[in-house]
Amino acid sequence: MSKAIGTVVVTGASRGIGAATAGLLAARGWRVAVNYGASEAAAQAVVAAITAAGGQARAYRADMASEAEIKAMFLAAETELGPLAGLVNNAGVTGGMSRLEALDAEALRRVFTINVDGAFLCAREAVRRLSTRRGGAGGAIVNVSSRAAELGGPGEWIHYAATKGAIDTLTIGLAREVGGEGIRVNAVSPGLIETEIHAAAGDPDRPARMASGVPLGRSGSALEVAEAIAWLLSPAASYVNGAILPVGGGR
Ligand code: NAP
Repeated sequence: MSKAIGTVVVTGASRGIGAATAGLLAARGWRVAVNYGASEAAAQAVVAAITAAGGQARAYRADMASEAEIKAMFLAAETELGPLAGLVNNAGVTGGMSRLEALDAEALRRVFTINVDGAFLCAREAVRRLSTRRGGAGGAIVNVSSRAAELGGPGEWIHYAATKGAIDTLTIGLAREVGGEGIRVNAVSPGLIETEIHAAAGDPDRPARMASGVPLGRSGSALEVAEAIAWLLSPAASYVNGAILPVGGGR
């Protein structure tokens, strides 16, 4: 394994894009805090795979809807894994499929709480530790947005798309706010990616059904998104700040 780069918190790393990102970052020398909300066994399996491959990782439960749990996770991760150098704000839910006219207020609140409040609070915890203005050594943040932010999610999930619009704004604003403090902030904007998020939303066949509408003619894999995240987090992207990188096969 290469020399450790630093600690990175990857939220929602128990499966899908987050799990692929955690594995890739560990292979590239990061010490990885594998965050999960409910899926402890899956998170521990991600940690076990990283450890078996010679990497360093630990699992941390923190519900993105809980400020106290988010704060405790950052504290525990830096104590047990070492100083923070990066954050991947990946945890997210769709809030289910619904036209706006049928939207349930509680579901709306929950998708914004997890996707937006959670990402803001994790970014806050990271900036408090990374900012050279506060004695930190700098670092990088990558937010996981969605092509839905631009496409709007009509007929499926405008509520979800709107949370990702907020993530894009967070990315642009924070990149400009802390760029002079040693922190780069960027986002990836995945398109149609094969993960369990579609089944969780009640439409497991969504990637296969919609693949023909993607200019590359197929859905993408979690690893293809992880590669973009790992690049944005790395020194290879040292002059990239405030970028929102589409990873959607042209969609
Ligand atoms: P996924 O397979 O459903 O995984 C979601 C992850 O988020 C899981 O690890 C889950 O862990 C975690 N999570 C959910 N609620 C949480 C909470 N309250 N607190 C902490 N963790 C929580 O989804 P995915 O497709 O990999 O999605 C990852 C990110 O990519 C999301 O932000 C999603 O919006 C975005 N994205 C996905 C696609 C796509 O087509 N798949 C496209 C564009 C953007 P637990 O089960 O342990 O809670």
